Formats: sequence, C-alpha cells, structure tokens
Amino acid sequence: MLKAILADITTLEVDAVVNAANSTLLGGGGVDGAIHRAAGPGLLEECRGLGGCRTGEARLTGGYALCANHVIHTVGPVWHGGRKNEPELLRLCYWNSLELAREHNLKSIAFPCISTGVYGYPAEAAAHIAVRTVLSFLDRNKFDIEVTFCVFSRPDLDIYKLELERKP
Ligand code: ADP
Repeated sequence: MLKAILADITTLEVDAVVNAANSTLLGGGGVDGAIHRAAGPGLLEECRGLGGCRTGEARLTGGYALCANHVIHTVGPVWHGGRKNEPELLRLCYWNSLELAREHNLKSIAFPCISTGVYGYPAEAAAHIAVRTVLSFLDRNKFDIEVTFCVFSRPDLDIYKLELERKP
C-alpha cells in the first residue's frame, strides 16, 4: 500500500524512516538534522561506525529515540541539471532502501522527498521517480510493505497525490 501524507517524518510510527543523508552519514541540515536531533546521540555514534555511504546506496541503523525502530540512510544525488546520472542515482536510493527493508523483513517504511531540498532536484520529477520505483520494486519482488511518502509542504503533497492517482 502506498500513501502520501504531510508530516514531520520524525514523528511517524513505522518500522523504518528513510533519511536523506549526505555521504558522511554524520548529520546535516534539513530532514537529516531533524532525524538526528529526534533520535539522539546514539544514532550519530552508530553512523560513525559505518564509514560513510556513496550516492545511491543505503545503510540501516537503529532508530534510538525515534518512534521508528530503524533509520535507513540513503544519499541522494545533488541536482546538476540532469546530465550527471541524477535520475538513476535517485532511483537507486529508493530501490536500495527497499532492498534493506526486505532483507530485514520490515512491514512499513516512510520516505522523505529525497534530494528535493538543499540538493535541488526538481520536485515533480523526483516524485515521479519515487512512486514509479517503489511500485516496480514491490511488483518485481512480490514484497508487501506499507509505504508512506512523507512530504513536508502542501505543494509536495499535491504532486504526490497526482502521481499516486496516475498508478498503475
Ligand atoms: P536533500 O539534501 O536530500 O535535498 P533536505 O533535507 O534538504 O535533503 O530536503 C529533502 C526534503 O525533506 C525536502 O522536501 C524537505 O522539505 C523535507 N524535510 C525537511 N525536514 C523534514 C522533516 N522533518 N520531515 C519530513 N520531511 C522533511
């Protein structure tokens, strides 16, 4: 099941929230900062031991003080105009996050709008990739998980609603 909601991702009770991290995995601004603040210092400690993460890859940690049991950290591409493999790298963020969720038998996951903040990825194009990638992963893997697209603005909610209505 896929849905879009307008919320602060740090408040969600799901098996895993996805963090739009940077390659150091040592925290930053935006949703990354919010997740680290809400999770507490244990999260940073665990992230230190991971040694970073490349763009498009994903890593799983505990959720610490969050309601979520886990955080899946993924590093979205910085938008450079679309000719630096950004769409494929963004697709990999969603795909690899879901691979981790499947490996750990998670039943629910919430994604923020990866790369669309400071990294500058155009919101509509990013939402299209997010929804299409999740649908194709679930279909390909016959995997059942509740997927929430947790947006942080009314315009993003409208974009996701449209994209979800377009399915299949
Ligand atoms: P990136 O560096 O990948 O662009 P940002 O954190 O700057 O990541 O932005 C990604 C998206 O996360 C943006 O749409 C931003 O509005 C949203 N966001 C920021 N804080 C939160 C939050 N607490 N919960 C959910 N989404 C958030």
